[in-house]
Amino acid sequence: MSGRRKRIVIVGSGVAGSILAYGLRDLPDAEVICLERASADDHSDAGTGLNVGPNAIKALRRFLPDLADLLLSASLPWKSWRISLTGGRELMNLPLSQVADNDGIRIRWSQLYALLRQPVLDHVRFGVEVTAMRYARAGEAGPIVVETIDRATGAGGVIDGVDLLVGGDGRYSRVRETFLGRPRPYFLGVCIFRLLIEQSRIDLVDDYEQWFNGPNRLLAFRVPGNGTYIAGSFPIDPDEDVPDGVKRADALRALYTPRDGAPSDQCAFLIDAICSNLADIHWARLQEAPPVFSDPGQRILLLGDAAHPMVPTLGQGATQAIEDACVAVTRLRKALHGGGDIGTALEAIEQQRRARVEFVVDFSRDATDTMLAGADPVAGSLAKTRPDFQAKLARLYRDVPAA
Ligand SMILES: Cc1cc2nc3c(=O)[nH]c(=O)nc-3n(C[C@H](O)[C@H](O)[C@H](O)COP(=O)(O)OP(=O)(O)OC[C@H]3O[C@@H](n4cnc5c(N)ncnc54)[C@H](O)[C@@H]3O)c2cc1C
Repeated sequence: MSGRRKRIVIVGSGVAGSILAYGLRDLPDAEVICLERASADDHSDAGTGLNVGPNAIKALRRFLPDLADLLLSASLPWKSWRISLTGGRELMNLPLSQVADNDGIRIRWSQLYALLRQPVLDHVRFGVEVTAMRYARAGEAGPIVVETIDRATGAGGVIDGVDLLVGGDGRYSRVRETFLGRPRPYFLGVCIFRLLIEQSRIDLVDDYEQWFNGPNRLLAFRVPGNGTYIAGSFPIDPDEDVPDGVKRADALRALYTPRDGAPSDQCAFLIDAICSNLADIHWARLQEAPPVFSDPGQRILLLGDAAHPMVPTLGQGATQAIEDACVAVTRLRKALHGGGDIGTALEAIEQQRRARVEFVVDFSRDATDTMLAGADPVAGSLAKTRPDFQAKLARLYRDVPAA
């Protein structure tokens, strides 16, 4: 082992980056620097909720039990998945205990970020954006050099001598683009919008539920602190942006109102909430890109959305970022503490993650079938009650990485 501590730079203190920083923070043989462009109190991108799969909680319990306890203490349990039509007819009501070993969680984004960042505050430089990265040129201390800018002061900075650069910088990863090229996204032709309202009607909406009107889908659940998270989706042209005309209250109301009658009380509550909070809605298009974990030079590791942007249909984006981070913590700790080789650790991470991630990406895409143009949500949702689909769900929720 060389005498110098290994310098690890993590780009992004999101889900994967924060957990990795947490897992490596106390290693005597490593210096861990996490760079996050958002300021410590900026949650502007985080004004929504999310459900984290049972598999993430199972993985955290196995690898980083303190973090599992932390998340469980600040969230609501996700225990069931119900699907209905917006008029009220129930199509599926699945207790997750049938397909998982433990509950998932429901949480606010801002809370999730705050909880994961809190234990690593000393290791994160907030308000610092990574602007450029490269393998060192002649005269520079390598293997990797990172250029940054302080977003508050505009001051530039350079971090050299970086032994491992981790891209935990999300879906539009600059790390991935720099070292592995910009991935070509595949658009499924579905718009998804998200909204968090500071109101709950526990008599109407509590645990995770979905409602269909044709392929147009509402999804909602209650989150801690008297809030309700709502996500709506509808088919769009895969080659076009979300049309402005549909971002109006009358258009959105029409998407979810059954043609043959009034919406159920649950859906009336959600539709009214959407139409009264148009300005707070976050709009996106369902997209994915091929998974990739490291570069040929074996100094770059991608985790979470940077490695495998997937569609959010099964709530597995942040969930898989958590699984990734758990595996990376173990493999890198072993390499760094035992004087092992970083390249070997990156190979081991990819070997442990690739097949699992490909399964999740494919399953998430397949489960989007009921949201595509022309889909029949009744047949598609009933199919999700059958043993083959539920066996895949059990594989998703139970087969977490081995420690
Ligand atoms: C509509 C929708 C709904 C979703 N719902 C769910 C859900 O219910 N459950 C679920 O598990 N997942 C869900 N996801 C997916 C989830 O949002 C992501 O998969 C998850 O956040 C990925 O975590 P990450 O750590 O890879 O990246 P992120 O959490 O996105 O973190 C990336 C971090 O990097 C920082 N960063 C980026 N570039 C730089 C730079 N150049 N310099 C410094 N910092 C940088 C960012 O500020 C950010 O903090 C959903 C996604 C969408 C679009």
